[in-house]
Amino acid sequence: MAWSREETIGRDEMRRIQLGKLQKTVAYVYGKNAVYRKMLDERKVKPEDIRSLDDIRKLPFTVKQDIRDQYPFGLFTASMEDIVEFHATSGTTGKPVVVPYTRNDVELWTEVMARACTGAGITNKDIVQNIYGYGLFTGGLGTHYGAIRVGATVLPMSGGNSQRQIMLMQDLGSTVVTATPSFLMHLHEVGLQMGVDFKKLKLKTGLFGAEPWSESMRQAIQEKFGLKACDMYGLTEMIGPGVSFECHEVRDGLHVNEDFFYPEVIHPETCEPLPFGEEGELALTTIGNEGMPLLRYRTRDITRLNPAPCACGRTLVRMDRISGRTDDMLIIRGVNFFPSQIESIILKRQGVSPHYMVVVDRQGSMDEVEVRIEVTEDFMAKAGGDVLKGSGQEILKNVATARQKIENLRRDIKDMIGITAKVTLVPPGTIPRSEGKARRVEDKRPKGIRTGRS
Ligand code: ADP
Ligand code: ZN
Repeated sequence: MAWSREETIGRDEMRRIQLGKLQKTVAYVYGKNAVYRKMLDERKVKPEDIRSLDDIRKLPFTVKQDIRDQYPFGLFTASMEDIVEFHATSGTTGKPVVVPYTRNDVELWTEVMARACTGAGITNKDIVQNIYGYGLFTGGLGTHYGAIRVGATVLPMSGGNSQRQIMLMQDLGSTVVTATPSFLMHLHEVGLQMGVDFKKLKLKTGLFGAEPWSESMRQAIQEKFGLKACDMYGLTEMIGPGVSFECHEVRDGLHVNEDFFYPEVIHPETCEPLPFGEEGELALTTIGNEGMPLLRYRTRDITRLNPAPCACGRTLVRMDRISGRTDDMLIIRGVNFFPSQIESIILKRQGVSPHYMVVVDRQGSMDEVEVRIEVTEDFMAKAGGDVLKGSGQEILKNVATARQKIENLRRDIKDMIGITAKVTLVPPGTIPRSEGKARRVEDKRPKGIRTGRS
């Protein structure tokens, strides 16, 4: 069962709703904000020129830099009296992106997150252990609002505190866990040390997102925790989580809340909109936000759209799981690849854990790739690590089984991605853990020759 009517309406009705809201949005930003007015005037577009959904092509694209250039308030369209909440991106490079929410924006967010929770099968009978960070990061509060709206009991844990998380998970009998997939894998390791078998707990559902994760990672999580894992997607610039979500019934693509976020998939270089089914960069237009609407915002996320109705009954267009970001993509000696592809390879092999880091460096004019992968505790013990503590790295270099494993992984990477990488096995726990999003790439090359845009 869907949470709201708009999730199951016909395409014609959806397009009518979208057009009405798009027209309203363009008139609203044009009337309220000088930066937007200038952007539209430069393209000689007036709000009344938007007569059909195709006319969206007349509108300019926006990118993160546009928001940064106007930091902090330049793109706001609501007055401070009406703004009730701020959120911001982590801002690892320069100033963060600050997003304002009016009461109606918080309502919209609650609504789309209630849809996502319902999609995952969460009801008022559930206890939701919310491990997404509370604070400026949107994951915590967004999930909180949605879970409360469907009547669930929220345990607002935020990130970190692994042992406490596990204790409360056991004692209160959490039935749902919401977290980044990488943190959940970390929790599993901590649980193992505490002698906890997560499969014996009451968990039945997980709502995961905020970072790329693969189908193999889904299988691994489901198997380790004995739960059904659903994906959800979002970005702070749009509202946070809740842009799209998987239904637990089918889990074949993420339903886009397209009556609030109008999706286009564009060619990342020409910016031409691509037909349904073709892979490209997702651009989103907010058609409901009041605080800081964004027109054709380039997410850098790569996906494709599928308009076919889903067997769950929802008719919302579906997007594929994000296969990578245009700015996360590495081009090594002419081969494009995403770190998530490495993850899939690792998860297919025994003895290694999905904690890895891709290190890219340049020797002369050649890019060199090193993939550092953690072995499991079990593998380490068998390799003699328990006897010779402290020299794990040495052991892994010398033991024959480790050498064989390195060779297998190197071959898998070559076969499946097409690059020759140096594989280094590292002892368990040596890849830095993150309480939020995992950092998978260390690019040591000079800035000018990286393939990324940021
Ligand atoms: P959030 O707080 O929702 O994570 P951020 O603005 O910090 O928002 O980051 C958004 C980016 O995180 C997206 O553009 C995308 O690259 C990534 N992301 C979010 N959810 C997913 C997901 N389910 N799968 C893959 N990537 C995701
Ligand atoms: Zn569905």
